[in-house]
Amino acid sequence: KVRVRFAPSPTGPLHIGGVRTALYNYLFAKKHGGDFVLRIEDTDQNRYVEGAEEYIIQSLNWCGIPFDEGPGKEKGFGPYRQSERKDLYKDYAQQLVNSGNAYYAFDTADALDEHRKDHEKKGKTFIYNWHNRLKLQNSLSLTEEQVQEKLNAEEPYVIRFKSPEDEILKLNDLIRGEMEIDTKILDDKVLFKSDGMPTYHLANIVDDHLMEITHVIRGEEWLPSLALHYLLYRSFNWKAPEFAHLPLILKPQGKGKLSKRDGEKMGFPVFPLEWKDPKNNEISAGYRESGYYPEAVVNMLAFLGWNPGTEQEIFSIEELMEVFELEKVHKSGAKFDPEKTKWFQQHYIQEKDNQKLTEDFSEFLSDKGIEADKSKVLEIVDLLKERVVFVADFWKEGSLFFISPTSYEPKDVKKAWKEDTSELMQELKTVLQNTEDFSQSNLETTVKNWIKSKEIGFGKVMMPLRIALVGALQGPDLYAIAAFIGKNETVHRIQKAIN
Ligand code: GLU
Repeated sequence: KVRVRFAPSPTGPLHIGGVRTALYNYLFAKKHGGDFVLRIEDTDQNRYVEGAEEYIIQSLNWCGIPFDEGPGKEKGFGPYRQSERKDLYKDYAQQLVNSGNAYYAFDTADALDEHRKDHEKKGKTFIYNWHNRLKLQNSLSLTEEQVQEKLNAEEPYVIRFKSPEDEILKLNDLIRGEMEIDTKILDDKVLFKSDGMPTYHLANIVDDHLMEITHVIRGEEWLPSLALHYLLYRSFNWKAPEFAHLPLILKPQGKGKLSKRDGEKMGFPVFPLEWKDPKNNEISAGYRESGYYPEAVVNMLAFLGWNPGTEQEIFSIEELMEVFELEKVHKSGAKFDPEKTKWFQQHYIQEKDNQKLTEDFSEFLSDKGIEADKSKVLEIVDLLKERVVFVADFWKEGSLFFISPTSYEPKDVKKAWKEDTSELMQELKTVLQNTEDFSQSNLETTVKNWIKSKEIGFGKVMMPLRIALVGALQGPDLYAIAAFIGKNETVHRIQKAIN
């Protein structure tokens, strides 16, 4: 049975790249009737960030990428937080020491620093590996008694993996195909530290094995670890899962990895939900709070590094489950396109029924302290729907239906409001006050007849009336606005403009 996992470290908010990794895992699992596991890789306590785990879970829920197993959803492979599995890694590290695949190392941070500096002076890079491990302080270079002494004295140690000296490894990746790596270039990575904590590499392999993960789908930044992971599986005599490394997500300009700063500079979110940094209370924008629908975000992310090979661009998550294939994921980086995300959003908002949009917009109004009649809100939704991308656009385009203008566009006022305008508006106000039938068509007839009877130009009345009702010389049909806001509000706005 296919089992995949999404294994974020709770070191901050989940970047959209992380959401894409989760999505591809989910789609792959569902396509094959498998399980999607969430595992929290929190062994690095120094980098632990308060609230990050909750954020990750909320983000997945909002996107509609639910996990089958994970924290709070125990299904026999738990616990799903590595900090809660802490006790089991030591034995596995020991197992590798016993089989000769790993060794104790006692070099202090200072000593390693010295080696690094020495090498630098000679224009070389220091790597802890087969080449120099015998010159360093470890169980390969020391006698058994010396090692035991150090352990008894509780000297700090690490357990390092003993990389083979000279072997050509054949690695396979479902997206990239076969790769060859010469083990000569590998360093002896730390697997376990004397503080009782495993490193990422050990914990990750042990857990993937124990959780019976069949496919590891993760970001390209983990490709350099693949050789070590292969070797670890081999040393344990375990069958390795299949691997697929997803392409990087690049800046909109194409060069370099997409970063939080790109989003800030260019005004688009790089996080699914808004995030408040607990260290400095800094707020980063989220897609949800910016008004995007999760369908749009998911559809956008699906195409960030994959496409179905047809012209179709709009896919629900259920449709994606059917057509998604790892083999169709691209090898090269995927350029992030904020405009495309808006395009998806526009599509999905047009697909929503007006009733739902009325609910959403009513809530938006309510947040602004405006309690409008649902039927009135629905009218505005009907009127403006084709022009909006976000629910907030109903407000941008149609706030005048709910509140009188908060300011008047100076250059429009100059054009519309002449010496005799106030007097004219007073008269119009009276005419309107005496109009019983305040429907759009009757208003149109009434105002037009009145203008004709005064033998003045239309602009002389319509322009200042527009200023009064809208605040500027633009916007929807004036009679429609007047009919919508009603007699009291119309009269009130005219009076306000005169003042
Ligand atoms: N904890 C790693 C991360 O934060 C997991 C990498 C992997 O999937 O192996 O991305």
